Amino acid sequence: MPDYQAILQDIHSRNLAEKSDGQVASYIPGLAQVSPDQFGIHLRTASGEDFSMGDSETQFSIQSISKVLLLAMVASTEGDEIWERVGVEASGDPFNSLVQLEYEKGIPRNPFINAGALVICDILLGLYDDPESDFLNFVRQISGIPDVRYDQSVAESEREVAFQNLAMLNLMKGFGNIHHEVDAVIRFYCAACSISMSCHGLTHAFALFMNHGKLDSGEEILTINKAKRINALMQTCGFYDESGEFSFCVGLPGKSGVGGGIAAVNPGRYSVVAWSPRLNAKGNSAAGLRALRRLTDLTGNSIF
Ligand code: GLN
Repeated sequence: MPDYQAILQDIHSRNLAEKSDGQVASYIPGLAQVSPDQFGIHLRTASGEDFSMGDSETQFSIQSISKVLLLAMVASTEGDEIWERVGVEASGDPFNSLVQLEYEKGIPRNPFINAGALVICDILLGLYDDPESDFLNFVRQISGIPDVRYDQSVAESEREVAFQNLAMLNLMKGFGNIHHEVDAVIRFYCAACSISMSCHGLTHAFALFMNHGKLDSGEEILTINKAKRINALMQTCGFYDESGEFSFCVGLPGKSGVGGGIAAVNPGRYSVVAWSPRLNAKGNSAAGLRALRRLTDLTGNSIF
C-alpha cells in the first residue's frame, strides 16, 4: 500500500506554498461568508484505514456532491425507467445552464447538472412521503454518521436566489418532465444541497461507490451494476464542462460542489475528499483539483 499519510502531507505542504486562486461561491449568500483559504483532505482505504491533513474535520456545504447521493437513493430502489427522464451524456455546459433543455425537450443531459438533479428530486418526491427526512436518513445510513444535518440557513438563502433553477423546473414542467409542484421540488433540492459534512464524513458516504455498492457491514445498497453506472457518470459528468479535464488530470470518478468539496473514489482502493472553498471559473475547487491530481500522480495509480 502507498504511504498515504506521507502523500497527503506532501499535498498539504505544497498547497500552503501555492498562491491562492479562485473565488468563494457568492451567488448563494449563505456560502459567501466561508473563510476562503481553508484546505482539508481525507482518504479512507477499502480496509477502513483513515488518513487526513488540514481542515479535514471542518463541516462544509456539500452542495452538488449531494447529486450523487440523491441518484444513489433513487437507484437503490428504481430500475432503468429513471433513464427515460434524465440522460447519461456529458453536457459540456455549466452546471446551471438552460440552453440544451429546450431543444432536448426537457430531458436533462445527466443527473449531475442542476436540471438533472432537479428531475431526480422530482422522482424522489413521488417515491417518499417525506423525502427530506428520508434522504437525510439515507445519507446517515450510508455514511454511518447519525447526526448529519441540513444547514437551514444555507437552504433558505439558496431558495431566495434560485431563479435559474426555478426557470429550469418550469421549462421541464412545461415538457411534462416534472410531476410535482416546482416549489416542492426546489425546497427539497435546496435542502439536499445544504447538507453539511466534513471531508472525513464524506469519505465514509462515498465508500459505497468505492465498495461497488456495499456498506462496510456488507449490506448491499446498490447492485454492482448500478454502482458501476454511478461511477461511470461521475467519471464523465462529475465536473460539468471540466469533466474531461478532471478525468485527464486525476483519472478517478468524482463529484464537485460549489461549497469547494470534491469527492472521488478509486474503486476497491479508497475514497477521498478534498475541500477548499475557492472555485475556479468552472465552479470547481481550484486547490481541490490540484490536490487530487497530485494524489494520483504520486501514487501512480488511477482507474486507468
Ligand atoms: N445548490 C447549487 C446550485 O444549484 C449547487 C451547484 C453546485 O454545487 N455546482 O446552484
